[in-house]
Amino acid sequence: MAAGSAIQIPTRLPLLLTHESVLLPGSTMRTSVDSPRNMQLVRSRLLKGTSLRSTIIGVIPNTSDPTSDCDDLPNLHRIGTAALAVQVVGSNWPKPHYTLLVTGLCRFQVLQLLKEKPYPVAEVQQLDRLEQFTNGHKSEEELGELSEQFYKYAVQLVEMLDMSVPAVAKLRRLLDNLPREALPDILTSIIRTTNQEKLQILDAVRLEERFKMTIPLLVRQIEGLKLLQKTRKSKQDDDKRVVAIRPNRRISHGSITEDEEEEEDHDDVVMLEKKIRTSSMSEQALKVCLKEIKRLKKMPQSMPEYALTRNYLELMVELPWNKSTKDRLEIRAARIVLDNDHYAMEKLKKRVLEYLAVRQLKNNLKGPILCFVGPPGVGKTSVGRSIAKTLGREFHRIALGGVCDQSDIRGHRRTYVGSMPGRIINGLKTVGVNNPVFLLDEVDKLAKSLQGDPAAALLEVLDPEQNHSFTDHYLNVAFDLSQVLFIATANTTATIPPALLDRMEVIQVPGYTQEEKIEIAHRHLIPKQLELHGLTPQQIQIPQVTTLGIITRYTREAGVRALDRKLGAICRAVAVKVAEGQHKEAKPDRAEVVEGEDFLPFDCKEHVTEDAKPESINDAADLALPPEMPILIDFHALKDILGPPMYDMEVSERLNQPGVAIGLAWTPLGGEIMFVEASRMDGEGQLTLTGQLGDVMKESAHLAISWLRSNAKRYQLTNASGSFDLLDNTDIHLHFPAGAVTKDGPSAGVTIVTCLASLFSGRLVCSDVAMTGEITLRGLVLPVGGIKDKVLAAHRAGLKRIIIPQRNEKDLEEIAAHVRQDLTFVLAACLDEVLNAAFDGGFAVKARLEHLNSKL
Ligand code: ADP
Repeated sequence: MAAGSAIQIPTRLPLLLTHESVLLPGSTMRTSVDSPRNMQLVRSRLLKGTSLRSTIIGVIPNTSDPTSDCDDLPNLHRIGTAALAVQVVGSNWPKPHYTLLVTGLCRFQVLQLLKEKPYPVAEVQQLDRLEQFTNGHKSEEELGELSEQFYKYAVQLVEMLDMSVPAVAKLRRLLDNLPREALPDILTSIIRTTNQEKLQILDAVRLEERFKMTIPLLVRQIEGLKLLQKTRKSKQDDDKRVVAIRPNRRISHGSITEDEEEEEDHDDVVMLEKKIRTSSMSEQALKVCLKEIKRLKKMPQSMPEYALTRNYLELMVELPWNKSTKDRLEIRAARIVLDNDHYAMEKLKKRVLEYLAVRQLKNNLKGPILCFVGPPGVGKTSVGRSIAKTLGREFHRIALGGVCDQSDIRGHRRTYVGSMPGRIINGLKTVGVNNPVFLLDEVDKLAKSLQGDPAAALLEVLDPEQNHSFTDHYLNVAFDLSQVLFIATANTTATIPPALLDRMEVIQVPGYTQEEKIEIAHRHLIPKQLELHGLTPQQIQIPQVTTLGIITRYTREAGVRALDRKLGAICRAVAVKVAEGQHKEAKPDRAEVVEGEDFLPFDCKEHVTEDAKPESINDAADLALPPEMPILIDFHALKDILGPPMYDMEVSERLNQPGVAIGLAWTPLGGEIMFVEASRMDGEGQLTLTGQLGDVMKESAHLAISWLRSNAKRYQLTNASGSFDLLDNTDIHLHFPAGAVTKDGPSAGVTIVTCLASLFSGRLVCSDVAMTGEITLRGLVLPVGGIKDKVLAAHRAGLKRIIIPQRNEKDLEEIAAHVRQDLTFVLAACLDEVLNAAFDGGFAVKARLEHLNSKL
């Protein structure tokens, strides 16, 4: 609605009572409505009405609506604004209310209140925007002068504002287009005025009066703006001066203003550029960096991209493009370092030395990547660390377990929010040289996901033909990785993607024997733990038998990690005792000073310690006792510190009934012994297998049953009712304990046959025999893997005889001589031999020779 056009408002208007703000004609106001009468008005008039007239209401300022509709109306303000309700929004929170958007049309005067409930309605008289309005009593000239003056101030004010803001430009246009008499109301509602002032303007019904009253308000606003601009300008001038004398000021003043900071940022960018130019990055990288820095200079700092670009450039400068450590490779020294750091693992050390020797001679790194495969805690990572030490290189470990996003290796593109380089580039930044030893830990635990295949990304990293131009997505320029020495570790090769495995030379790191573990504990782990806990050999002594006790009764592992932890626990306990002892020692010192006499002689001290444990603090003699040094860890102490033994040798107990045999299994955690149990019951010839078995293992079970059924007569094996048809009216249940662990592989074949043979013959399997081997339907025993780990597991468990496939004989050479001495190996080529070895007195074929002869 054009503000200046003649408006005719109804003579009866519903009244909206407001007291917080003042609506002037030509302006718009948002007001919240929650009092009873006002709510009624909105509900019954605005929301229910259908005509345009019903949306016109009278807004009475400076009058608050009573909180209850029983109360009388207060005195109404004399003059109000007729308004058009443009929008009504209802809400229920925190209490029911409406928000009204109203636009003022013109002034009116309340003549008579017609009704008060449910909302007030009054007879009104319109006061302005009338046809006859301009023909007021004042001469046009005088008003013209006033309005001209007002217009000038208004233009001056608007032009002081920032014209680039669209709303300001629009206001400037409005000044020219609106009729002059509408301007005082509109400008008053725009400039900074109090409600009181607005009310005065509203009350100024005469146009002349209104102009006169608004001009001072405009002038006040103009003056205010001028002052503001002046202070701003002087500040800018100051800033300029600051820049001009900056070098001196910096030295004399410690405080930094905001603008100084900006300036400093600029300095930083210049520094960054300098760093980029002086860094030794590749030509391609330099080009990219210079382009980016050019962009950075033009970018306002508030832009998010500014920080991104800056981070990128800082990384580029930090990367060791050309920085490397000098290799000091001397095979003899390397051998010494490896031998000093690690006991046993001869095969691994030999292969590592070969690898290093070739490198020394050839002086380049092209060749397969070493991959150490073995159970946890056998020293794979620490050998990697030693290799770095022998070469004098930096060492960095990259844990790949569970990585399922290829961006982890290759970085995110810089377009993403939160993008960052991959682990390889990050690692290089951390070590600060371009020829570190990178240990890619747990490559077998890389996972695949929707975010791509990290193993595929690793291929590029590990391929010596490609990795001289490895392109991280974040960097987006090639980085030469050819100087980096990569070593990978894994628990098993089974889950390493074939393409990745192809690039690596696998070195198996088997578990340790008990003797090796004892040596490792005494040469490496115990000294390390003592140092960690601030103990000395004079304070604690762990004899070898105790270590053996820990190994056999408190751990069951291929490596030495749990052993290390247990030793740590012992050291902690001893540290407490030693600390307590020092505390107690301190007290007698005081006593010495007070009493001035020497305390207990040494031999006496020892005597008392043994007899009376210094638990009671009241006992004066006890207080004087230093702990007996060194504290000897015997079995009693072990039990005290580590609790009751976790593993007991229960082999013989479990083999005291038919239908149980001991197999040997290989897992990524090392070798293990496995009890296979079988039982039979009446049924329909069904075979039940439990213990989370894989398909291959299930097939082995079926093979075993078929072989036994076909040879039942030969071995005189019968079911419960004496029939040679073993499954006739019989169900068999085979169980592989530790049901939570999935088991698979063919090597349990011989164990299943032995276990079933025991079940059907009713004979006990020897309690000190363990076995492994794949079977065929014809009764042959085929070779299997992991012999060394399996043999070590059997040895750990105290078994004496091990049945292995004949074709695995060569694997026995890898086993330490002292282990071999403890064990008897039975090399079996067929199942007859297995059964003969598994049962005391053999499992002889009951066929009569003469009978066979006559057949021939
Ligand atoms: P992995 O990487 O194979 O899981 P770690 O390298 O982390 O195992 O070894 C675990 C701990 O055992 C390390 O503290 C390491 O020093 C120690 N360790 C393992 N094997 C030996 C060994 N042959 N000689 C000395 N310490 C060893």
